[in-house]
Amino acid sequence: MKTARLIGGERDYPIGKILCIGRNYADHIAELGNAVPERPIIFMKPASSVIGEGEEIVIPSYSNDCHHEAELALLIGTGGTAIPVDRVMQHIAGYGVAIDLTLRDVQSEQKKKGLPWEIAKGFDTACPLSAFVPAASVPNPQDVRITLSVNGEPRQDGSTALMINRIAELVSYISGIFTLVPGDLILTGTPAGVGPIKSGDKVVAEISGVGRLSVSVA
Ligand code: ZN
Repeated sequence: MKTARLIGGERDYPIGKILCIGRNYADHIAELGNAVPERPIIFMKPASSVIGEGEEIVIPSYSNDCHHEAELALLIGTGGTAIPVDRVMQHIAGYGVAIDLTLRDVQSEQKKKGLPWEIAKGFDTACPLSAFVPAASVPNPQDVRITLSVNGEPRQDGSTALMINRIAELVSYISGIFTLVPGDLILTGTPAGVGPIKSGDKVVAEISGVGRLSVSVA
């Protein structure tokens, strides 16, 4: 079973649903030539796709274009359905660093055919994840810097201040569709600078005041 570790917490959380938000930063929408969505785009990764600090990404043989997407991850500590916007923060136990690995070539093909994205987003090792810091230790999660480098070369450098749908609105909206339970994770979208990784690369994602996540590509 995959678990999420809350630093200083009494127990690990068995990971439930991993709900991910697509196109939540204008600069990333522009770089892929997509349109700004009317409502948040939601997709899921299975818990089986999670790997931790120091582990290896295995790019599936059916792709030649695996992209990194550094994202702020939320750990749900208290469940709820249709959580009001002004109550959302009480449901978040911690914040972590995630990389939403995406097989861009496969995703493009699926999009073109109107097919679901899971095989491009939910494969084994598709969700590198750090430990979570307690929510109380991040005074303003809506204003933290997200960076990602590959082999020491900077690729992504953004801020959660640039989210289109902010954390409180996102979680409230999502919980109106999917009841949230402790151990569910929400990946809040990626800023610009996404790009390919290949065998042998070392990928480091960092969110100021939240953590650092280092993984390599097998
Ligand atoms: Zn993403």
